[in-house]
Amino acid sequence: MGRGNGKLGQSAGSMRGVAADELRRHNLGAVLDHLHLAGPVTRSQLTVVTGLNRSTVADLIGELAALGLVTEGPATVANGPGRPSPVVDVRPHGAVVLAVEISVDSLAVATVGIGGHVFNQVRVARHRGHFRPDQTIADIGQLSAPLLDALPEGSHVLGAAAAIVGIARRSDGFVHFGPNLGWRDVPLGDMLATGLGLPAPVAVANDADLGALGEFRRGGRPDVEHLVYISGEVGIGCGVIAGGSPLLGSAGYAGEAGHNLVNPNGTECGCGATGCWETEAGEKALLARAGLAGEAVGLEALDLLEDRTIAGDRQALEAMEETGHWLGIGIRTLINLFNPEVVVLGGMYHRFFDHLIDSAIRSTSGAVDVSRSMAEISRSNIGLGAPLIGAAELVLAGVIDDPAAVLHSG
Ligand SMILES: [Zn+2]
Repeated sequence: MGRGNGKLGQSAGSMRGVAADELRRHNLGAVLDHLHLAGPVTRSQLTVVTGLNRSTVADLIGELAALGLVTEGPATVANGPGRPSPVVDVRPHGAVVLAVEISVDSLAVATVGIGGHVFNQVRVARHRGHFRPDQTIADIGQLSAPLLDALPEGSHVLGAAAAIVGIARRSDGFVHFGPNLGWRDVPLGDMLATGLGLPAPVAVANDADLGALGEFRRGGRPDVEHLVYISGEVGIGCGVIAGGSPLLGSAGYAGEAGHNLVNPNGTECGCGATGCWETEAGEKALLARAGLAGEAVGLEALDLLEDRTIAGDRQALEAMEETGHWLGIGIRTLINLFNPEVVVLGGMYHRFFDHLIDSAIRSTSGAVDVSRSMAEISRSNIGLGAPLIGAAELVLAGVIDDPAAVLHSG
């Protein structure tokens, strides 16, 4: 995540005070970001990774500790020469986010603290017919109340963020369209803030965009800067990280690859078009090919399919093969467009990765050779929780960017 430092060069005259404040804020964020991503380190290691001198680092740690964001343990003897140095770590309950994921098949909530510490998380199968926004918010309230109650005493809850299978405006959490939920024009951010009694605004973003952010920040690929995340459920979502930054479009609607045309002779999609990627490679198509359409729905159907696949059921395996083929057709386009280092498969593609991946890779063969050879297709390292972790990262980024401002106003 880039942090702007455009003011740092302006040191003359009246800008001197502003630049010093900006520099301090930047350094405070840099120390917190390192601790957030890398975990506990000694104070002397922090001086090495930040390039700041010992007294500056000591001051910054003091300020972060006063804000309740870090703790400092007793001095330990470092490897090699040098004085013993205290170990600094984040204090997870100093900044906590309620992360929410609204999918068609499931609802999930998690309490996540700075450092990526997951205090608790719960995912429940979605009851069909409970898709109305007010009912959804009531369900989220019921799921999240015990998690918030279970937080350690003195926890500082910053707010909430929701990942949704739909097209959401980043600025205010307004959901324009969630075809697989049957939602249009839902002011979800405001409704969640009111319903949960949490500070507004509640951040709302597309689930795949947040899956991409989660995998980029916490997926264990520290050197990757170009990543495409694909979430598979009833629909297909796509999130892109380009050059270390989320690629969102002008309002946050970019990455709707699930509605790219892949088969002109395909079936009708919830968006109104025909032959979209998600009608050919999504959950409904997979279940229909496996002969499970109508037998069960949602997570229950996927459980049944997994059992049959593991048992070697021929129709289930062929359904995986064909769905993998259509998955790969869509990935081929994404490889051509974005030249990613890694394409991460989340959601049901994470779950069925081993059964889909060979045919998916074969179907990418038409992609530009050099791009294809660079792009590893990988299962999600975080698993089903990637959008939740990304939702938490979205809010925690604000604290990391300006710890003092966020916590003083909280
Ligand atoms: Zn569509």
